[in-house]
Amino acid sequence: MTTLLRRGLVAERGAGGSSGGRPPVILGFDDDRYNAFGVELDADTITVLRVNLRGETLDVRRAPFAVAEDPDGALAYVSAMVCDMILASGHLLERILGLGVAVPCPIDPVTASAPANLFLPRWQGVPVAAALGAATGLTVLVENTATVGALAEQWWGAGVGGEDLVYIAAAGCVGAGFVFRGDVYRGVNGAAGEIAHLQVDDDGAPCACGLRGCLVTRVGARALTGRAASLDAAEPFPNLASIVTRAIEGAPAARRVVAEAGSALGRCVATIVNLTNPTLVVVGGPLPTTGALFMDPLRAAVRERTHIAAVAKTPVMASALGPTSVALGAATLVIARGLERTLLDAAFS
Ligand SMILES: [Zn+2]
Repeated sequence: MTTLLRRGLVAERGAGGSSGGRPPVILGFDDDRYNAFGVELDADTITVLRVNLRGETLDVRRAPFAVAEDPDGALAYVSAMVCDMILASGHLLERILGLGVAVPCPIDPVTASAPANLFLPRWQGVPVAAALGAATGLTVLVENTATVGALAEQWWGAGVGGEDLVYIAAAGCVGAGFVFRGDVYRGVNGAAGEIAHLQVDDDGAPCACGLRGCLVTRVGARALTGRAASLDAAEPFPNLASIVTRAIEGAPAARRVVAEAGSALGRCVATIVNLTNPTLVVVGGPLPTTGALFMDPLRAAVRERTHIAAVAKTPVMASALGPTSVALGAATLVIARGLERTLLDAAFS
């Protein structure tokens, strides 16, 4: 406890009622003593947020950026945003635990680098942590998007109180993240949950990976915009966001595309549920924001394929953490590491 007090993680909140002896001192968690930064690098958007130890967002910036094409530019942009937000916060650098960065590809847990990736080829070998650390002076942790999505749900979202959770990123890049027995599960090389190239259709469209009928050819952003254009050539669907917006507005082609994506993804989710038997499944990203249009066919596909009583009733929920949930998860990674270190210090001091 003295270490926690010394580090300022807990603070005295006054005196409690006395039962005869010296009145006890009431201690409380000091939420704002430290901050953490979280970044999401999506294919075409950068999100940066600053949170306190309770996961409450204190500042957030979100801007379009050609992340996939320009790694150096994206990292320079993130550094500038973070430095600007530190200055605006008035917080001292030593009161910032670090910077968590979510990237949509597998991350090696040992080297924190991205191995070969078909869809972010320009990021291969880019020293994300070293570059951002040098530019900002902060400790930088890099992690896969779906993995931090799972962490955000377990700490602050639908998974609070549960030990085993599966998170599905239903975004431009589809992926799964796992929390098992309270810890994120990455696999040996950080590639667990890479469901984009699970084959869902033997005779499906050719995929960039060389296979046919991968999940991403059915539910990835490019697949969905292509499908929408084939259903309604008169309406422009330049990106996933336009499909989501038009589906909510009631456009038939967009609604059909969203429902088909829910059904295709649901078949994969059923396999994951059968394999892992989680407490619940949380689906994040833009597609679940269409509500029942996406979630009903997804749930129906899961129900049709989960016959064992133990898994048949697994709740499948849409994330309620909003569009910055992945950046929040990246910041949570930093908070978790900071608390772990402090508790270890406390145990051995
Ligand atoms: Zn593929």
